[in-house]
Amino acid sequence: MEQPDLSANTVIDQPRALTDKTTLIRDAGPSKFQVIADFDGTLTRYRVNGLRGQSSHGILQQGNADFDAKREALYEHYHPLEFSPVIPLEEKTILMEEWWSKTHDLLIEGGLTYDAIKDSVSNSSIAFRDGVAELFEFLEEKEIPVLIFSAGLDDVIEEVLRQKLHRTFKNVKIVSNRMVFDNDGRLVSFKGKLIHVLNKNEHALDMAAPLHDRLGADNGEKVEENAYVKQRTNVLLLGDHMGDLRMSDGLNYETRISIGFLNDNIEKSLESYRKAFDIVYLNDAPMWGALELVSQFFPTEES
Ligand SMILES: [Mg+2]
Repeated sequence: MEQPDLSANTVIDQPRALTDKTTLIRDAGPSKFQVIADFDGTLTRYRVNGLRGQSSHGILQQGNADFDAKREALYEHYHPLEFSPVIPLEEKTILMEEWWSKTHDLLIEGGLTYDAIKDSVSNSSIAFRDGVAELFEFLEEKEIPVLIFSAGLDDVIEEVLRQKLHRTFKNVKIVSNRMVFDNDGRLVSFKGKLIHVLNKNEHALDMAAPLHDRLGADNGEKVEENAYVKQRTNVLLLGDHMGDLRMSDGLNYETRISIGFLNDNIEKSLESYRKAFDIVYLNDAPMWGALELVSQFFPTEES
C-alpha cells in the first residue's frame, strides 16, 4: 500500500527526547517491548467517508428495536453527564457504572445473539486506519504483544478484527467487557469486572485476557501471560484521549513512547496533546508512522 508523507500531520514537541527513547527501546530489544492501544478513534478511524465513524458500542443492533431504543435513551441521558465539567469524579464514576450495567442488562434482557453482533459489524461503518494490519503483522513476526484496552465490548471488537482485517493475530489481546453466550449463541451474562470509561485503566493489565473463542472459553494461560507482559517494561502507547495515557499505569515501565491521535478540536487541544504525547498525529492520520517507528526499533535484517 502507498504510504503518504505524514510530516504535515505530525507534531513532535521534543524530537531530541524522542530520539533518546528510541535508542533505549532499540537497545533493550523486542523481548522487553510491548504495545498498548486504545481501540475506538485510535486503531479505528474517527471519520469514515466524511462522516463520524462508529464506535464498538455504537454499532450494536441487538435485533430488537425496543431494546435498541432503550439503550439509545440511556446514551442520551448519560453521555452528557460523562462530559459534564461540574460533576465530581467520584460521582461521575458511579454514574458511569450505572450506565454500563444498565446497558449490559438490556443486552441480556433483549436477547442479544452472537449472530446479531456479526450482522451489526458487517452493516457498520467502523474502519481501521490504514496500516493497522501491517503494524500488527510486523509485531506478530517479532513476537511482540499488543494489548487493546477498551470500555466497549470485547466480543464486538474481536468480530471487528475478524471482519475488517480478515484474520486474527496471536499476539493481540483485548481487555474489555466480555460476554458469555449459551449453546444457542444467546448472551447470558458478562464475565469479570465491569470496564467503563473511567476505570478502564485501573488494573487493566491484570485483566489482560487471551483472545477467547466465540463461546467465551478461557485457555487457562491468563496468569502466566500477564506476568510475561509485566516484564516487558518498554512501551509504545497509542491513544486518542489524554486519559489513554493512563493505560500504562499498571506497568512499572522504564521507557514509554506515546502517540496521540488528535482527531477533533485541533486548535483547542493541540497545546495539551503536544506536551502530553511524544508524537501527535493530526487529521485522522493513518498508522504508517507507528509502523515506521517500530521498524526503526527492530529492523528486519536483510538476508
Ligand atoms: Mg478512543
